[in-house]
Amino acid sequence: MTRSPSAAADSHSLLRAIPKVDEAVSWLASELEDPGAAESAWAVVPPRLMKNVVREVLAEYRRRILAGDNPSLAELAREGLLPRLKERLAGRLQPNFRPVINATGVVVHTNLGRSLLPAAASANLAAVACRYSNLEYDLHTGRRGSRYSLVEDLLLELTGAEAALVVNNNAAAVLLVLQTLAHGREVIVSRGQLVEIGGSFRIPEVMARSGARLVEVGATNRTHRRDYEQAIGEETALLLKVHTSNYRISGFTSEVAAEELVDLARGYRLPVMEDLGSGSLLDFSRYGLTKEPTVQEVLAAGVDVVTFSGDKLLGGPQAGLILGRRELIEQIKKNPLNRALRIDKFTLAALESVLRLYFDEEQACREIPTLRMLTSPYQEQRRRAQRLRRRLRGLPAACCELELVRVNSRVGGGALPEMPLPSCALALKPQRMSLNRLEQALRAAPVPVIGRIEDDRLLLDMRTVADAEVAELASVVQEVLGT
Ligand SMILES: *Cc1c(COP(=O)(O)O)cnc(C)c1O
Repeated sequence: MTRSPSAAADSHSLLRAIPKVDEAVSWLASELEDPGAAESAWAVVPPRLMKNVVREVLAEYRRRILAGDNPSLAELAREGLLPRLKERLAGRLQPNFRPVINATGVVVHTNLGRSLLPAAASANLAAVACRYSNLEYDLHTGRRGSRYSLVEDLLLELTGAEAALVVNNNAAAVLLVLQTLAHGREVIVSRGQLVEIGGSFRIPEVMARSGARLVEVGATNRTHRRDYEQAIGEETALLLKVHTSNYRISGFTSEVAAEELVDLARGYRLPVMEDLGSGSLLDFSRYGLTKEPTVQEVLAAGVDVVTFSGDKLLGGPQAGLILGRRELIEQIKKNPLNRALRIDKFTLAALESVLRLYFDEEQACREIPTLRMLTSPYQEQRRRAQRLRRRLRGLPAACCELELVRVNSRVGGGALPEMPLPSCALALKPQRMSLNRLEQALRAAPVPVIGRIEDDRLLLDMRTVADAEVAELASVVQEVLGT
């Protein structure tokens, strides 16, 4: 395409019309000093940030003009430029990492931060965060202590394990255990349990990194005791069972129960490890959810080492918990790799508080948000949805249809995969914008709202919305739909 001479002249004059960086910075600075504009966020903007934003925006105009996509002269003048500069600056002043409202109904939502801390845990974390603490200091002897001892006794009391260790997350726990107990030797696993969970954690790959050799046995749908037995040899270090927490193999299936695997392993003096994934300390079947083995049950079955996440069904901070027989845990503690995977003090503070809540199951279900959301009845979601709808009654029907609907929430976090949780959602059917546009606008709000689109409606599932968030959620929806 050839450009006409007048368009080329236009481009030249437009390029010349782009203000100097310092000039545009001074416009922006004087605008922000204006007491009318002195809202909180603008109070102190570092000059360097202003300059970077101005450079960025001006460079974009330059590129546009050179590409033949000409703005008007007015856009490049002070009044035209200021709104763009302010908008860009506002975006840069917003924290990158901030709270969102989870209206997806997925309780353990890995992308939205998995578990929420109970108030007590958050307070304990804050208390040690800005003060010195006895992280590795034994207050009885005045000597060096161990950070692990801060939660080990609690874990033993709650689960009946002989010893415990906590690391950065469950992936680290699995790696560390395999590296310690099976490096250079063989680990036997059923083909039905070679799981991949999100974020590229695959059992065969973690196994390879640990230096252990994977020996697959059985078929995808069925593995028997004799399959394990035939694979046991001189090089065998460990029998591994992996809880298939994010999928189910159903139909003609069978797997070897922990008790039976333990019985087999004892005969060969081999240890058994189970990666429980989303291990739980309480029996969810008592709350009408699917039965999953608890950590206590797995240990009682004789499994020698159990690993699970701190932030899945336990409802605590990100962590990997390793529980089991003392002599094995001692070996794991001494592995130099442990130092690289260690848990930090903030996590420990939060984890201790969460564990203490488990001494009283009722209290745990009331105060640990993950447990509260998982065990809360349909009626509660419905009441919350009604509150939300009442707050939105000012919205004209011509702008959006609102309806309370029955939906299914999900546990998430690769836990209880087939378990639908009956819940109530407010369904939005916007009349003046597309569903995708609505979803995007909700995400762009100062407190972003994440919902889900289903059957041509945007659903706000109230299971994962806190009572204290309803008013905020309503004002976001009002703002997005009302304008
Ligand atoms: C989630 C999960 C992991 C990884 O746990 P993180 O705490 O996310 O590192 C490992 N194994 C299984 C079976 C899991 O479900």
